[in-house]
Amino acid sequence: MKEKKEKKSALNVQSGIEPPEQVNPLASKLLKAKKKESIDVSDFTQGIISGNRTVLSRAITLIESNRKDHQEKAGKIVSQCMPYTGKAIRIGITGVPGAGKSTFIERFGTFLTSKSLKLAVLAVDPSSERSRGSILGDKTRMEQLSANPAAYIRPSPSGGNLGGVARKTREAMYLCEAAGFDIILVETVGVGQSETAVRSMVDFFLLLILAGAGDELQGIKRGIMEMADLIAINKADGNNLKMADIARQEYANALHMFPPPASGWVPGVQTCSALEGSGIKQIWEQIEAYVSFTRNNGFWDTNRSEQALYWMHQTISNELGNRFYDNPIIRQSLENTEHAVLSGTLDSFSAANSLLELFYHSDKK
Ligand code: GDP
Repeated sequence: MKEKKEKKSALNVQSGIEPPEQVNPLASKLLKAKKKESIDVSDFTQGIISGNRTVLSRAITLIESNRKDHQEKAGKIVSQCMPYTGKAIRIGITGVPGAGKSTFIERFGTFLTSKSLKLAVLAVDPSSERSRGSILGDKTRMEQLSANPAAYIRPSPSGGNLGGVARKTREAMYLCEAAGFDIILVETVGVGQSETAVRSMVDFFLLLILAGAGDELQGIKRGIMEMADLIAINKADGNNLKMADIARQEYANALHMFPPPASGWVPGVQTCSALEGSGIKQIWEQIEAYVSFTRNNGFWDTNRSEQALYWMHQTISNELGNRFYDNPIIRQSLENTEHAVLSGTLDSFSAANSLLELFYHSDKK
């Protein structure tokens, strides 16, 4: 009877135990805030740099929002956080669906957090709206890492073109850095243009490959291989071990034929098993070696400066594009002009020029 009365549960208040003090007063302020809008920019910045996950997530939601006021606020938050960024190692990871990216990230992420490193996992997947967030969106993926307090996982922003999705991920990356994460992993699917976008926001690019049935090199575009700082042949376990080793040789030979990358780093090829955990430590050692190599030869800083410049131009092009296509006059005339080009009654250059003229005139008003 007595036992029943004093049933231990986290939901029961135990007599004689003082409730713990609020660890972060800002968290309760934010959680109590009725409207997200009532939290101002400096509250956001303070929350982020103090490592508050709730605030970080809310700020990323603002980045992802298409509302003008949200975007303005997000822009200010990112600007205020910029002085606190730059210390993390940014790692891009790509591979075709099924290559084992999420299994790898789970294993690699757990390895990193066991070394007391804090890890944020982001993604660039422009198809995510169509496929309902296949990448990092599925709750069954990375279950262990999701529950790890040293890891933060955020699915790809959905909707919009690749440029928009990539920009949002890049801004989210800055906020994660300001929040104190040591490693940022950016996942993308190895099937299209998104690798180039991810390559231009990370320091190190890892290509995960699946050992196939002798046709290893066929499915992977040369361009993607050229971007890689390391190629890892995953699923090197069980009956697959021998095939993985053959693939490793083939890729190593193929890489020899590429011109040396600007970093001066010679990309390696190695095998791993995300499932069993073999090769994970060696991959991290390669990344560490790359970081010290490029820091010593100056590439690390040059690359980041060039990336910053690239993103400035990208942002300008994106913004101009958005402004153009959002313009009501353009919206009115676009369809007709498109039809004229399709039917051959108007050439594409004249069509573009007349639309641009319309835009310049209406934008001046
Ligand atoms: P993703 O689509 O690239 O994220 O691939 P997943 O991580 O979802 O993996 C696809 C399938 O391959 C799953 O069934 C995994 O269990 C399996 N898999 C992933 N890594 C390994 C590995 O190292 N060895 C083996 N044998 N299977 C693996």
